[in-house]
Amino acid sequence: MAEVLVYVDHADGAVRKPTLELLTLARRIGEPVAVALGAGAADTAAVLAEHGAVKVLTADAPEFTEYLVVPKVDALQAAYEAVSPAAVLVPSSAEGKEIAARLAVRIGSGIITDAVDLEAGDEGPVATQAAFAASFTTKSRVSKGTPVITVKPNSAPVEAAPAARAVEALAVTFGALATGTKVVSRTPRESTGRPELTEAAIVVSGGRGVNGAENFGIIEALADSLGAAVGASRAAVDAGWYPHSNQVGQTGKSVSPQLYIASGISGAIQHRAGMQTSKTIVAINKDAEAPIFDLVDYGVVGDLFSVVPQLTDEIKAR
Ligand code: FAD
Repeated sequence: MAEVLVYVDHADGAVRKPTLELLTLARRIGEPVAVALGAGAADTAAVLAEHGAVKVLTADAPEFTEYLVVPKVDALQAAYEAVSPAAVLVPSSAEGKEIAARLAVRIGSGIITDAVDLEAGDEGPVATQAAFAASFTTKSRVSKGTPVITVKPNSAPVEAAPAARAVEALAVTFGALATGTKVVSRTPRESTGRPELTEAAIVVSGGRGVNGAENFGIIEALADSLGAAVGASRAAVDAGWYPHSNQVGQTGKSVSPQLYIASGISGAIQHRAGMQTSKTIVAINKDAEAPIFDLVDYGVVGDLFSVVPQLTDEIKAR
């Protein structure tokens, strides 16, 4: 069976969920071989094997943390040359997309970004993408070289598929570009205790209707009752009510959770571009004519200041 390289996103050995989702998709098109880089890379092996990785290639070097993405591209390219895979899958994070694009250029392959599904095809893997602000879904296939595909978080279930644990050290030679851009400092964001926006299974977002930074507490309370991440429309972000890192949409983050709850958001095309692939969409808006109601699975016409706290209380009571 053909091998499929899976780039592992992890934090000091703790594998992030989007990588486990990639393993589910990789198993549809071949045998997953995972590539884990940096501190704790070897610690990822157990959980990767539990989810179907037949082999984990690991490398650790100061270059992975001291410089921007190029050393990781060098390592992924080394893995590509060692394995000759049928496809390379990378999580659709900002870093993942840069790594994937650089690799595709180097190996002369076509790339598909932000896939939301993947299946085997007669002429190679077929990826599903959302196009034109998710008004359409398209199926496409790379026609040149080895497909490099980035996949959005929450696009596939995490499935246990125990494989024998096999770890191999990956030999990496860094090229001249690897040390071109040095990281001067890192400032970790203060933790809110909430899941990362792009990875969260549930996202609760607030828009201009929330009417002030001080009122975002009711959005956060609903999010916390559901174990959700908090998102915001650009109107709320531009008004300074919530950080830009939480903006959902064309110029913000693209999310694809199981459940997206939009409160006081009208549903402009640029907002939809970042959330329309959510599995279930709920909107709370006092205007029954708001465009967001065109795409929801469930809509509540009402004042969010009354509806959201009631919803929070009801969820907490269960
Ligand atoms: P509004 O459109 O003002 O809607 C507020 C809604 O709240 C209304 O529907 C209203 O009925 C409702 N409401 C008011 N009070 C209440 C209440 N008490 N209870 C219930 N409902 C209430 N936008 C993004 O979100 N993300 C982006 O990434 C983004 N990128 C953009 C890029 C470009 C190039 C451009 C031009 C625009 C972009 N926008 C983006 C902006 C976008 O066009 C909209 O202006 C924005 O999404 C509107 O935000 P909103 O829905 O919160 O506000």
